[in-house]
Amino acid sequence: KLIVLGSVNVDHILNVNEFPKPGETLAGKNYQISFGGKGANQAVAAGRLGANIQFIAAVGDDELGKKIHQQLKRDNIDTRSVATIKNENTGVALILVNAQGENQIAIYAGANAMVTPDYLREFENDIIQADAILMQLETPLATIEQSAKIAKQYNTQVILNPAPAQQLSDDLLNNIDIITPNETEAEHLTGIKIVTEQDAQTASDILHNKGIKIVIITLGSKGAWVSDSGKGELIRGFKVKAIDTIGAGDTFNGMLVTALLEGKSLSQAIKYAHAAGALSVTKIGAQTSVPTRTEVDNFIKL
Ligand code: ADP
Repeated sequence: KLIVLGSVNVDHILNVNEFPKPGETLAGKNYQISFGGKGANQAVAAGRLGANIQFIAAVGDDELGKKIHQQLKRDNIDTRSVATIKNENTGVALILVNAQGENQIAIYAGANAMVTPDYLREFENDIIQADAILMQLETPLATIEQSAKIAKQYNTQVILNPAPAQQLSDDLLNNIDIITPNETEAEHLTGIKIVTEQDAQTASDILHNKGIKIVIITLGSKGAWVSDSGKGELIRGFKVKAIDTIGAGDTFNGMLVTALLEGKSLSQAIKYAHAAGALSVTKIGAQTSVPTRTEVDNFIKL
């Protein structure tokens, strides 16, 4: 069984020609509300791609929180550990996208802030019994540290997608089995700007030295640098016409862990993750762009 521990957000997305300046009001277009949060995106990816998954998270007692809860269930996710927090809002991301496709994002944690080490206590047994736990960094860091510690102690494999980028303690890193930063996050964690393959290996080695066995640095359309115990290689991705890369990393992580739990080798699991990630960039949105498992299987056969 897989556990995903992470955030739930409602994304409010608005397109503008250019970002408003302080004090300025601008008219936007194409207003959309979509379900996001890295935790929920990865949980949905794993659920839709075939994992037996339980999600540890929290939503507010608002209408959207209720809808998200129902959507998670439809994606085959065990939601008994998704709490509804009284008098709190579901997490929110306010996203402006300009004509160049750049974005500005402000986040309100809302119910996500209630996923505390105290709240986690109720589900410690689930973590102990699971085969693997997948986490990101939109949940209070103390909670991530606590669950990594318990998981490690009881041989539940710990996979961390260290996004959004932030500094992490050596104690936390030492409890991680597999880490999956993108280039920006890898630079944040190691101070290495990744340009060459040698840079990717240097960054990987820094993380290996912190106690992490497998380092996977995702490189967008270029694929991923995969280093198992210090021996790294570039594993190329699939060529597709990218329309919207939002959620590519989340789909990649959901598929990666699902495939590993099916007993696939690391390089096979990366291949599946690349296929799912590539398919996701051919569609708009985060959770809406996660392919089905049949689509991934057929894509790989081509
Ligand atoms: P993030 O979305 O977290 O920044 P990346 O951009 O590194 O992560 O993408 C994660 C993975 O998604 C890649 O390793 C690859 O498998 C897939 N992917 C992302 N962008 C593309 C693309 N343009 N074409 C094909 N695959 C892609």
